[in-house]
Amino acid sequence: MDILEHPNPALKQHALDVDPKNDPSLRGLVQAMARAMYDAPGVGLAATQVGVQKRIIIADVDDALIALCNPRIVETSEETEIDDEGCLSFPGVYIPIERPVSCVCEALDLKGNPVRLKGEGLFARVLQHETDHLDGLLIIDRATPEERRAALRRYREANENR
Ligand SMILES: [Zn+2]
Repeated sequence: MDILEHPNPALKQHALDVDPKNDPSLRGLVQAMARAMYDAPGVGLAATQVGVQKRIIIADVDDALIALCNPRIVETSEETEIDDEGCLSFPGVYIPIERPVSCVCEALDLKGNPVRLKGEGLFARVLQHETDHLDGLLIIDRATPEERRAALRRYREANENR
C-alpha cells in the first residue's frame, strides 16, 4: 500500500462516513495503513492518503495504535501553539502551523462503539492533522500564503533531488 504524495488529486477528496458494524473490510484496511505508517515511519495516517475515500484515521503517538472511524474534533482549546508539522504526503517538508494545544475527538472504534478521546500536545496535533485529511485539507492549506509558497518551493527542490 503506497502513501500518495502531493499533488495527487485524491488527497483533495472528501472521504465518506463508514459503518464499522457493517463494513468487514475496515480491519484489513487499518492493518495495511498501519504497515504503511510504521514503514514510513510516521505517527499518523488517514485513509485518503492511501487513496481510500473512507473516514478512517490511525495514529501511534504513545506506542499504541489507535484506529478511529468517522472522527470529529468536537472541542478545541482556546490556547494555540505553533509547531513545525510534517506530513507523509509531503516528504521532507515541515511547515510551522498554529493549532489548538488540546482537543476532544469523538469517533467510533472498529467495532462501531462510540469513543471520546482527549488529546494534548503532539497527540492533539496528530488528531487534528489526520481529521483534516478526511476533508481534503493539507498542511499547506493551514499555512500562511508566504509559508505555503516557501514550503512548495522546498518540496519541489527536495523532489528534484530524490
Ligand atoms: Zn498528513
